[in-house]
Amino acid sequence: MQSTSAYVDSLRPAGSKRSSKRDFIVDVFLRQDGHISADDLVEIIRREDARISRATVYRTLQWMVEAGIARKVDFGEGRYRFEHSYRHPRHFHLICKSCNSSAEFLSSDIEALIEEVASARGFSPRQSVVQIYGTCEACRTGRPATASQGQPELLFARDALRIAIATERSGRDFYTRAARITRDARARAVFLKLSEEEVDHLGRLEGRYRELLAIDPELEARPTFLFFKGAANGLFSEGAEALSRVTSDREALMLGIRCERGSHRFFKKYGERFEDSEGKRIFLEFADEEREHLELLIREYRDLVRREPKPRSTPARGAAARHQDRAKPGSTRA
Ligand SMILES: [Zn+2]
Ligand SMILES: [Zn+2]
Repeated sequence: MQSTSAYVDSLRPAGSKRSSKRDFIVDVFLRQDGHISADDLVEIIRREDARISRATVYRTLQWMVEAGIARKVDFGEGRYRFEHSYRHPRHFHLICKSCNSSAEFLSSDIEALIEEVASARGFSPRQSVVQIYGTCEACRTGRPATASQGQPELLFARDALRIAIATERSGRDFYTRAARITRDARARAVFLKLSEEEVDHLGRLEGRYRELLAIDPELEARPTFLFFKGAANGLFSEGAEALSRVTSDREALMLGIRCERGSHRFFKKYGERFEDSEGKRIFLEFADEEREHLELLIREYRDLVRREPKPRSTPARGAAARHQDRAKPGSTRA
């Protein structure tokens, strides 16, 4: 993990000199959570060092915005607030107009839509801001919030791990079931191997999840940060259900191929959209593992087709040919 000073150095515009006052202000700013106004920052800085002027804090804040260390956010209060970008993934805001609290979330589907609209209009987007104004749950119900937001970086990793774990679980169930119904010994061995691999991956992912909980014991109770339109675990659960309807080992393998391909695409598509973060690493590593499973299943499918006697009736041959077409290794790419 990058240190704060290495992070600031990486963003420091070329030719800009280090100054101890500025470094001090940047350092204090990076230690703040949430969204603070320029005046809040002046107050915090001057509590620690009364010799630093208001003008210096303002200038440094402006410099941080230009360098990408600070993001300027307008919550419609008539003044700007600032949040730092260090270990703080891009996000959108829910803003309560009753208590002025703000909560953060991320949705790659919203980002994809913004890009789609911009590109259809030949527009080159530089920054997009999504703010949802309204009334928060605490203000609406009168009950205190169950848990505060916590660190977005941890929430992001937590949500990425949750979705990967759910996918591994449904993958394991799918392969265990597939192994049970498969007649061909080799195909059955492949399903068993895959189900064991899923169990192994699951163990590693759960270990990482426990490490996150050790950093923040309240993490489980904190609100969802990462939202998706659909998730890969649904593919495997549907697949497991469809297994009860398959009539041949080929069909079972093809079903596995479809699930793995969908899962690989899901994790790759979202992982590539995320900024550098633990959550991104989790998704891209997972996408790679799913691709390996996909390739193994495709090899096995082809092998089975080679070993099995050719089906006699024309429609069956047509279906097999279509399946083979879909099973081209080139199509593993998303
Ligand atoms: Zn509120
Ligand atoms: Zn924010």
